[in-house]
Amino acid sequence: MTINGEVIAIGDELTSGVRLDTNSQWLSERLGELGIRVLYHTTVGDDIDANIRVFREAMCRADVIVCTGGLGPTADDLTREALAAATDRPLTQNDEALAHIQALFASRQRPMPERNVKQALFPVGSHVISNPHGTAPGIDLSIERQDREPARFFALPGVPAEMREMWQQTVAPELARAAGDERRMIRHRRIKCFGVGESDLEQMLPDLIRRGRWPSVGITVSQATITLRVTADGADETACFAAMEPTLEVIREQLGDIVFGSEDDELQHAVMRMLAAHGQTLAVVEMGTGGLICDWLSGLDTEGRTFVGGSVVRNGNALRQTWGLELESEEGTGESALRAHAELARVARGRFAVDFCLVVGQFPHGAESGSEPPYVACALADGKTEHTKRVKYAGHPDILKSRTAKTALDLLRQQLLVASPGGAPGGG
Ligand code: AMP
Ligand code: MG
Repeated sequence: MTINGEVIAIGDELTSGVRLDTNSQWLSERLGELGIRVLYHTTVGDDIDANIRVFREAMCRADVIVCTGGLGPTADDLTREALAAATDRPLTQNDEALAHIQALFASRQRPMPERNVKQALFPVGSHVISNPHGTAPGIDLSIERQDREPARFFALPGVPAEMREMWQQTVAPELARAAGDERRMIRHRRIKCFGVGESDLEQMLPDLIRRGRWPSVGITVSQATITLRVTADGADETACFAAMEPTLEVIREQLGDIVFGSEDDELQHAVMRMLAAHGQTLAVVEMGTGGLICDWLSGLDTEGRTFVGGSVVRNGNALRQTWGLELESEEGTGESALRAHAELARVARGRFAVDFCLVVGQFPHGAESGSEPPYVACALADGKTEHTKRVKYAGHPDILKSRTAKTALDLLRQQLLVASPGGAPGGG
């Protein structure tokens, strides 16, 4: 039986765009882990009628509802009133909750303002969710429904730290207990891929990305990195991961070298892992990418053992001054331009005294005017020879830099794979 969830975020600061709703993201992931499928996210402002309407709808369409915000002591905090109205249950004072709020003020050596008494009011029949570090206790309420199991409603404060603590301490154990023997959990594994387009990759896995398949496989792309997310449910974590294994195996087999890692890996993690495994060193000369690769790599190697250094060169003059080299045409990617970039890689490799030197050429200027698709020249020197690659320069400006940087790193990764096959993806 699927349990459907809804997450409700309450507050004018959210609906007006002043603040980003991060609670819903966090809660949805937690609900998912418990096997609850979140079908709706609702965001509503501090308006009593709107809150009542949203709560009533949620109780009809979801089995588990978690709302955050509106539990404070001020006039715009309306969650308890709205919940009482939506369920036709009067508010009554909970003495224990009131004592806790009073004790909290006493411990801070402040008098409790009268308006905080409101935070000890609960719809009849609800349970208090204790808030160890804040004055706003949460509300846990079961709501009877005709011909169905009751809906379970949890109201938590908006302050993310308090909300999370209360979720971990009270709500999550309570949901697990309620599920009893039917308790299921959901787990994910992510496989990271690079080097082909999203639809090409989908073609390589014809039957896996089908709707309704179990374990399910989802595909997303972000800044040219493709993520395959495999999802399975089971009685416990071991069962979830065991169920996924055959699917993961098929993916790795079908995609081969396109897979570079897993979970939070990016290409720089994969490349650094491979270099470090063989005690090899790398330097980078960047033109178009302006230091992005150097930034990524230095973030992963604070001691500079593997990524020893780099150079950012933004034009032909700087290139002459620093490297004493001339790129016939800084932007070209014809044969002679590729040769010039290869020469730069060879020279820089020698100066840095490293095993590999990667060069990313200048981005094309006024690219849209030409009829030829614009390219960026990349080169890699490995001590034996120089490898070159033309990287297509097309797509949204926001991703051009990171995609070019990743493509250059992938040129290195492919060479590392050739040099040491089987030492591939890693990262589990
Ligand atoms: P409230 O419980 O409505 O008084 O909210 C207290 C504070 O928590 C707000 O001022 C926000 O800064 C923060 N907050 C409320 N809701 C959210 C949310 N959905 N995501 C992130 N922060 C929130
Ligand atoms: Mg609020």
